[in-house]
Amino acid sequence: MTPKSAAAASRSTVHGYPRQGPDRELKKAIEGYWKGRVTAEALRETAEGLRRDNWRQLAGAGLGEVPTGDFSYYDHVLDTSVMVGAVPARHRAAVEADALDGYFAMARGAQDVAPLEMTKWFDTNYHYLVPELGPDTVFRADSAKQVGELREAVALGHTARPVLVGPVTYLLLAKPAPGVAVGFEPLTLLDRLLPVYAEVLADLRAAGAEWVQLDEPALVQDRTPAELNATARAYRELGALTDRPRLLVASYFDRLGEALPVLAKAPVEGLALDFTGPAAANLRDLAAVGGLPGKRLVAGVVDGRNVWINDLAASLTTLATLLGLADRVDVSASCSLLHVPLDTAAERELDPQLARWLAFARQKTDEVVTLARGLAGGTGPIAARLSANRADLASRASSAITRDPAVRARSAAVTAADARRDQPYAERTVAQRERLGLPLLPTTTIGSFPQTSELRTARAERRAGRLDEAGYDKRIEAEIREVISFQEKAGIDVLVHGEPERNDMVQYFAEQLTGYLATGHGWVQSYGTRYVRPPILAGDISRPAPMTVATTSYAQSLTGRPVKGMLTGPVTMLAWSFVRDDQPLGETARQVALALRDEVADLEAAGTAVIQVDEPALRETLPLRAADRPGYLEWATEAFRLTTAGVRPDTQIHTHMCYAEFGDILTAIDDLDADVISLEAARSHMRVADELAAAGYPREVGPGVYDIHSPRVPSADEAAALLGKGLEAIPAERLWVNPDCGLKTRGWAEVRVSLENLVAAARATRERMS
Ligand code: GLN
Ligand code: ZN
Repeated sequence: MTPKSAAAASRSTVHGYPRQGPDRELKKAIEGYWKGRVTAEALRETAEGLRRDNWRQLAGAGLGEVPTGDFSYYDHVLDTSVMVGAVPARHRAAVEADALDGYFAMARGAQDVAPLEMTKWFDTNYHYLVPELGPDTVFRADSAKQVGELREAVALGHTARPVLVGPVTYLLLAKPAPGVAVGFEPLTLLDRLLPVYAEVLADLRAAGAEWVQLDEPALVQDRTPAELNATARAYRELGALTDRPRLLVASYFDRLGEALPVLAKAPVEGLALDFTGPAAANLRDLAAVGGLPGKRLVAGVVDGRNVWINDLAASLTTLATLLGLADRVDVSASCSLLHVPLDTAAERELDPQLARWLAFARQKTDEVVTLARGLAGGTGPIAARLSANRADLASRASSAITRDPAVRARSAAVTAADARRDQPYAERTVAQRERLGLPLLPTTTIGSFPQTSELRTARAERRAGRLDEAGYDKRIEAEIREVISFQEKAGIDVLVHGEPERNDMVQYFAEQLTGYLATGHGWVQSYGTRYVRPPILAGDISRPAPMTVATTSYAQSLTGRPVKGMLTGPVTMLAWSFVRDDQPLGETARQVALALRDEVADLEAAGTAVIQVDEPALRETLPLRAADRPGYLEWATEAFRLTTAGVRPDTQIHTHMCYAEFGDILTAIDDLDADVISLEAARSHMRVADELAAAGYPREVGPGVYDIHSPRVPSADEAAALLGKGLEAIPAERLWVNPDCGLKTRGWAEVRVSLENLVAAARATRERMS
C-alpha cells in the first residue's frame, strides 16, 4: 500500500476512557451497593448507562472505533483474573455464591478473608489487584463481561474493539499465591493460559468483533530473553488460531525496545505504540526494524497521562513519518485515558486562558479525531483547529506563569555546594546531640495524628463559608494543643504538631505555591472507588509566603521538647501531581526544591531544630527501564539535598519513606544525606534494618515498630521485640523508635495505647541496656 492510501484509511480510536462518569456516579453507585442502599440491578443499570454515555460521547466526537471492556467495577486486572478463572481458593465460595459480591470480596477482602494484594500499575498512580497464581492454578474462560460489553456497543451501532490485558502482561503482573514456593514463576503457566485466551477471542469474534486489542505494557520494561521468547511463542500461537478476530497488540508508557522486533515479526495484524515522552524512541526503533509492512499501526501521539494540549502540528509530522512505515496508520492517545480527568469544561473556576492549555479525556479525544482528519485529508480541513492550537501553545509558552525570570535565574545559579551540607554527618551528629539532648533510642512519630470527624467537619464548614479563617484556625490550634499534650504525657521525645490542617500532604503545599493549579473536578481513579484530584504543576514554582511556620511555631510554643517541622519533599510533590511536559522533570523538581528550601530556612530561623522532609514517592517514581534510573536518581536526590542542605549543622534533617523494600535505591537513600530516616518495617520484622546495616548505611535509622496499616494495638513486649531485632543490626546510638508511617487514618483510641506501648518498649530497652 502506498503512503497515500494508508492515510486515506486512517481512523481514530482510544484504548480506554474514564469510568467514573461526570459526577463520579459509578463511585456513588458502588459504594451505595456496598452499604446495601443500591441494588445489584440498579448498579448494573448505572454502569450500563455510563458505558452508553461514554461510547456516545466518543463516537459523537468522531472517533472511528470505540473501545469496549475497558469499563470496570473495580479494576481491569481483577476483571482479567475473573475472565481466565484465576479466583484464589479462599474466595471461591464467595464467587460461587454470588459473582458480584465475590468480585468485591477479592478486591476488598471480607470478614477473615484477605483481599488480593494491590500495587501500582506501572509508573502511574492507578493501582491494580495482583493476580495470585501457582502450579495448581486451573484457568477457565469466562468471557461474559467482555462479550456482554461488546454486544452493548454493537447494539448501539458502534464500531467497537474489545480491549483485554494481554496474556504475557497478565502473567508478568502476577505473583505466587500464598503458600506457593517463592521461586515459582507465573510465566511458566503460559501454555495453560493461551487456550483460555483462544476461547475468549473466539467468543468475541462470534459476538461481532473484527479487531481485539491485547494490552502488553509489561513489554516496555526490561525483559529477559526467556520472557521475550515466551512473548514470541504466545503471539505465534494466538496468531495461528483460525477462529479469531484480528489482533492489535498494544504497548504504552515507554518504548518497546527489544520487544519491538519480537512483536513486529509476530503473526498479528496490528501494533499500537506510544510515541510520547520517552516512548518517542519507538519512532526510531520502528524505522530500524523496517516498519510494520502489512500491519496496522495505531499511533499513540496524544499523551494519555498528562493534562496538556497536544502540539497538533508536531504530531502530524510524526504521523506523516509513520505513514511510510506501516500498511495503515490510525491515531490514538498513547494509553487509556483512565489516567486523566474527564473534561476541562467542568473547571468553571479556572481562568479561561489557562483552561485553553489543558486537555482532559474529552479534549484529548477531540485531538485524536482532529489528527486523524488531518492525516487523512491534509491540513486544509483542520486549518482553523491548527491555528487555534498554535495560538494556545504560544500563549502557554510565553505566559508569566510558565516562565518566571526570577525562578529561572535562581535555578540556573544553583551550584553543587548548595546541595551539600557544610559538615559531614559525623560532625553534625555531635552538634545535634548537644542541641537536642535526647535519650538513647529516642521516640518520635511520622507526623500526622488521627484526622477526626471534627477536623473534617471544620474543613467542610470553612469551604461552605459557615466558618471563617479565624474560627478555623482556632479549631486547628485546639487540635494541636491536644496532640502536644498527649505526646508530652506519653513521654515521646521529639514531638509533632499532628498535621491537622492538612487534607493531603501534596495538595496542602500545592495550594500555597505559585505555579501550581488546583482543579475542582479533576478526579482520576487511584483504585476501586477511590479517586484523587492531583494538582497541576503548571508553571515556574515559587513560594510567596511561609507555609508551615505558624503551625509549627505554635506547637513549639506549647512545649519544652523539640517539635519536628514537617514538609513534603520535591520528588513526592512531582509524583502525586500532573507534571509539566515542556521541561525536564529534574528542572521542575529543582524549582520545587528551592521553594521548599526557603520554607526549611524559615522554620530553622523560627527555632525549629528538627525538620522532616517526607519522600514516600522516591521509589515509585523510578523509571520503568533500568537504563533511565541513574539519571532519575541523580536529579531526585539532588532535589532533596537542595531542599535540606542549607541548614546549620545542629539542625537535624529527617526523611521518611513508607516501604520496606528498597534494595534498588539503597545508594540513593544514602545520597540524600539525611541525618535520620524512618521507614516501614514492622510487617517485615525489621528486615530494612538488616539491609541498611549490610549496605553500611552510616546515619540514624527509625525502622517502624508499630504497623499503622492495621487497627491492631501492638503490645509493649511486641514493640520491644522488634526494637531488639533492630538493635541486632543498628547500634543503639543510631536507632530511633517510631511507628511505620503517619497516624492520620487511625483512631485516637488505638493510637493512644499503641504510642504508650511504643514508649514503654523504648524505656524498657534503655533500662535493659544500661
Ligand atoms: N508526614 C506524613 C504523615 O505522617 C507522611 C505521610 C506518608 O509518608 N505518606 O502523614
Ligand atoms: Zn509513610
